[in-house]
Amino acid sequence: MNPTRADQIGPLDMFKIGIGPSSSHTVGPMVAALEFRKFALSKLADSKSTANLTLKVELFGSLSATGRGHATDGAVCAGLIGLHPKSAEPAEIWSAMPDLEKNPSVELGNSTAHFKPSEDIIWEGWLLDDGPLPHPNTIRFRLWQATEIIAEEIILSVGGGFVEPIDPNTGLRRVPQAGDAQKLVPYPFDSAAEFVEQCNKNSIAPWQLVIANEAAKGMNEAELRKNLSDILRTFDQCIAAGLSTDGILPGGLNVRRRAKALWEQMKAGKTPGWGGSDLRPSVFAMAVNEENAAGGRVVTAPTNGSSGLIPAVWRTLQETNNLSEEMLQNGLMVASVVGALVKTHASISGAEVGCQGEVGTSCAMAAAGATAMLGGTPSQIENAAEIGIEHHLGMTCDPIMGLVQVPCIERNAMGAVKALNATSLSLASDGQHLVSLDRALEVMKQTGLDMNQKYKETATGGLALG
Ligand code: SF4
Repeated sequence: MNPTRADQIGPLDMFKIGIGPSSSHTVGPMVAALEFRKFALSKLADSKSTANLTLKVELFGSLSATGRGHATDGAVCAGLIGLHPKSAEPAEIWSAMPDLEKNPSVELGNSTAHFKPSEDIIWEGWLLDDGPLPHPNTIRFRLWQATEIIAEEIILSVGGGFVEPIDPNTGLRRVPQAGDAQKLVPYPFDSAAEFVEQCNKNSIAPWQLVIANEAAKGMNEAELRKNLSDILRTFDQCIAAGLSTDGILPGGLNVRRRAKALWEQMKAGKTPGWGGSDLRPSVFAMAVNEENAAGGRVVTAPTNGSSGLIPAVWRTLQETNNLSEEMLQNGLMVASVVGALVKTHASISGAEVGCQGEVGTSCAMAAAGATAMLGGTPSQIENAAEIGIEHHLGMTCDPIMGLVQVPCIERNAMGAVKALNATSLSLASDGQHLVSLDRALEVMKQTGLDMNQKYKETATGGLALG
């Protein structure tokens, strides 16, 4: 369900272990294919005959425009055969499509359906049955039996690996209703102002507020921390892999990996720059985003395109400020609050609002989490997040060849540095400032609506034109 309130989205919704290169174009379609698989299996359980089956997948809008560069087809194949982005090994995921091409059949319980990726994945345009798309990232799955459709679902990949089925009544993206079922939480909030107020009024640390709300939703603190620890470990593994791998990234753009060489240069004390220059956050971010571009194991933070920024800031602060594992987990909880606010009041999808929704959101999340970890007050946390987002407003998404490489990799490096700067600026102030985070999010949403489609992950404008 599309959450109606920010307090309904928790840290494990925002940080999901998955697979590169894109959360909306890879992880989301893979999860959508898995959901359709479950639906098709339930339909087949009620069928008398399960012979003569064929699967068809139609990719619309931005998924079609940049899906080849984002490995959407490979991800759909992996989901259809039952692989999950969190648990399946990257090599297993990426062998699904070539395997299906050689042997075009998907096992569905006791039945098999014909599915040859080169013929049965259809790259559609911007119209669905002659009408507008419910979302720029729309997928239609169909299971045919001879000439009859026996299972059909239209699923939207709405950013950050989140998926939503369309509203069956309207055929459109479901608009949250006031009466939608919500889990009662002890510290309700649906704006940054309310979050700050709840912390101040109840004299509760921001992460304690998150822990209490998550407990009310059914996840106790030990379980939450165990999951956050897995996420931190995945951050570290991803940074380590990126810092030890060189060569050319896949996709045909011939982008050279840079993190390893920069890291070696840095360790040898050979990084040029101004007096206070420390390339650490940039190098860590690039290491993660290079792994993401290579289809490796990453964490949405809040998306794959922006997956390097938060690990880079956390690792930098761990090293420079000697932060404990528990404090790093606390920071993730606070960062997730900002991600939840953006998701409910603007968007974390580059296809909906441009890169302000991906790297911009990640920067705001990182700044908030870092400020919390360094002892900032709730007002300073809100201030840091606002600085983080304000200076990304209007940023377009125009990846060259639809690959999550240029500008994405370097953009995470720049975002990490901005997040650390936002943290320092807010910690040096009293948290009072002119533009609130809530106002900045309104502006972000409107700017996204006004932004020309060609700058929203379609590879038809900006840098993508070469
Ligand atoms: S430009 Fe930004 S929004 Fe677009 S794919 Fe790259 S990271 Fe994602």
